[in-house]
Amino acid sequence: MLAEVISIGDELTSGQRLDTNSQWLSQRLGELGISVMFHTMVGDDLDANIAVFRAAIERVEVVICSGGLGPTADDLTRDALAAAAGVELYEDAAAVEQIENLFARRKRPMPERNKLQALFPRGSRIVPNPEGTAPGIDLTIPRPGRSPSRVFALPGVPAEMKTMWNATVRSALAAMRPSPRVICHRRIKCFGVGESDLEVMLPDMIRRKREPLVGITVHAATITLRITASGPDEAACRAAMEPTANEIHSHLGVLVFGEEDDELEHAVVRLLRERGQSLSVAEWATDGLVSHWLAEAAAENHGFLAGAAVKEMAGLNSLLSISGRSASPASEELAISMAEAIRRDTGADYGLGIAAFPEGDDGMLHIALANDQNTRSKAFPVATHPSIKKLRSAKLALNMVRLALLDGRST
Ligand code: ATP
Ligand code: MG
Repeated sequence: MLAEVISIGDELTSGQRLDTNSQWLSQRLGELGISVMFHTMVGDDLDANIAVFRAAIERVEVVICSGGLGPTADDLTRDALAAAAGVELYEDAAAVEQIENLFARRKRPMPERNKLQALFPRGSRIVPNPEGTAPGIDLTIPRPGRSPSRVFALPGVPAEMKTMWNATVRSALAAMRPSPRVICHRRIKCFGVGESDLEVMLPDMIRRKREPLVGITVHAATITLRITASGPDEAACRAAMEPTANEIHSHLGVLVFGEEDDELEHAVVRLLRERGQSLSVAEWATDGLVSHWLAEAAAENHGFLAGAAVKEMAGLNSLLSISGRSASPASEELAISMAEAIRRDTGADYGLGIAAFPEGDDGMLHIALANDQNTRSKAFPVATHPSIKKLRSAKLALNMVRLALLDGRST
């Protein structure tokens, strides 16, 4: 079964906004075993939209489009779809009521224009939108002598589109496939070695045609191992992936910090929570990135006490009771002072200090971690692509905390 993904909007064709919906939808379609053969992007023009829908209906069995379902004059999807399918639009009473209710809940009068969102091509089904005003459209278009083409039109707002996919579209498509087969992924996240070193640690695992398949990708020094299995249902896929996941864990040990959307800060927050311990951060090179990540990951008050981002020695000295006043910004001495001072001044169990980047690419970045017993410092070479230098350094710092918490040793 072939599919086409269509993204609609001048915002996209003009390059003002990146089309992330197509990427997301294509991944989800792939998980269902439906191959995406075409990506089409079209601006807010009625004739162009009609032509795009006609072409898609002609060449694939599944069409998923996003955008242009709003109430404004540039939202043309319902008109274009009806025209391409050769049917008229009618006003659905239940949909009008839903939209009215939504406005009532938000305590706002419903603009007359929003009624347009209750217009549907004859013969279509409504895809409910629990989060916004624009319901989606599910329209099957007969094709003489062939299986029909089924079009799902979803709103452009990514969060609404995803909710509707998960609630309605996914299962509707799954039911269409001749022999139900699902594709599942499991992502295992690692940090601490290079990609090729890691591959060597997993003999014969990363190769084509392996079942389940294991792929490796790197993003700003975080390595993701992606296991892919296909089977009759999700439980079968999960079971098929389990031995591979266990093998990866046993080969890589503490290099693995999490799964799926986990980042290093989540691993650190989890460990702090488990141990009932707290951490504060003083950072120079990383511009507050470590604190920002931790603050987001620790949303509910879990272990991250305070973060200080500094860029000048004067700022650092007035903020913290720094002892090494004469130390240079990029020195080990300063990293240690920062770690100890932020720990002491905030009353945290752990203090993390990140010194400034050294001048030039062949220097070292000093990071220190203090607890009530001692302070450990490490030096990391900074030579790396400028675009990931800060990200990688922030991760190195978090990883240092993670490893210290993991083996529970005094730093
Ligand atoms: P609305 O009711 O909000 O007008 P809509 O279905 O008309 O919904 P659009 O107006 O096309 O959708 O897009 C709404 C917003 O969703 C856009 O401003 C844009 O921020 C985002 N958006 C639309 N299409 C995409 C896309 N393909 N990828 C990422 N974001 C998108
Ligand atoms: Mg719109």
